[in-house]
Amino acid sequence: MNHPSGCASAVLTIDLGALADNWRTLAARVAPAECGAVVKANAYGLGVEQVAPALWAAGARTFFVALMEEGLILRDVLPEADIYVLGGLLLGTAEAFPGPRLRPVLSSPAEIEDWARLCAARGVDLPAAIHVDTGMNRLGLTLEEAFALAQRGAGFTPSLIGTHLACADTPGHPFTALQRERFARVAAAFAGIPASLANSAGCLGGRELHFDLTRPGIALYGGVAVAGTPPLKPVVRLEVPVIQVRNGLPGDSVGYGAAQTLKRESRIAILSFGYADGFFRAYGATDAHAGADAIIAGRRCPLVGRVSMDLTAVDVTDLPEGAVKRGDMAVILGDGISVDELAAHGGTIGYEVLTSLGARYRRVYSGG
Ligand SMILES: *Cc1c(COP(=O)(O)O)cnc(C)c1O
Repeated sequence: MNHPSGCASAVLTIDLGALADNWRTLAARVAPAECGAVVKANAYGLGVEQVAPALWAAGARTFFVALMEEGLILRDVLPEADIYVLGGLLLGTAEAFPGPRLRPVLSSPAEIEDWARLCAARGVDLPAAIHVDTGMNRLGLTLEEAFALAQRGAGFTPSLIGTHLACADTPGHPFTALQRERFARVAAAFAGIPASLANSAGCLGGRELHFDLTRPGIALYGGVAVAGTPPLKPVVRLEVPVIQVRNGLPGDSVGYGAAQTLKRESRIAILSFGYADGFFRAYGATDAHAGADAIIAGRRCPLVGRVSMDLTAVDVTDLPEGAVKRGDMAVILGDGISVDELAAHGGTIGYEVLTSLGARYRRVYSGG
């Protein structure tokens, strides 16, 4: 979107320096295992064309996306990276992978057959990962299929063998130990092929979870990876303009549904953003429950009433007279408001806050 100069739009600042620091922190933690980076869904909403080069400059060499289309965009940005496509081979797409040197993560016997046929036709071992299910029941070969494949051979030599943890965000969850034990047996059956288990939470867990290559996502972007553990450095900052400050009387209601009624003489700041920008309606306040906060003039102020499509109201009554005026900026993320704090107000997780960040924000990349 083009922004006329001086136009007071909301500003989303993405700190590429903090992002790179977060990758280096995880890389140091998991060494000597290699630290990759998951940049699916446009780098968790933050912009893969800026995020991926910052991670490459920090030292990341192996990247993961969800879709082939994401892989094609990433290939243009990073000509030399190893790029895995987690979603694997959609029917009939195998032949499109070798040109841009994308590596599918093969998750079923049918996908493995497709790849083996392509390798045979071209007379080369094209790199691809094999995903084994160790308990998530989402994608991946069953353990029996994996052991059988290891015995008889896939028809090509996989470049990676992987699985995905279901419960690593809960410290000490017994399911993580069970998945690790199953995966260790699979990795042993595919001796000599690099193995990958750990998402962000796995990176932050014990060494026994790191194997050869890790796949962190959320922790790079400043989200909480392990419940009850503070995130790495915050990466996003969101500031939105105040477009009006108005007064209300006790008994007045604010916004759609008259969901919140003022209990005192109040001043209300109206912010120029709403659920169309990914600021979920669930963040709003009603008479029955408080909503999210915004920071205005350095102080936390509560949302009042429902979040509209393009407008959000904040109670600024407790700010000193004249502390907030039209044109000031309210901090929605940053200055101590984390993506996970915001997520909690909407009954969701930091991942969803990030991947929903709106297309109307003016995006600024700092620290690159
Ligand atoms: C998304 C994803 C990751 C990254 O998970 P985080 O929790 O964001 O670190 C790793 N591996 C796979 C297979 C994924 O789908």
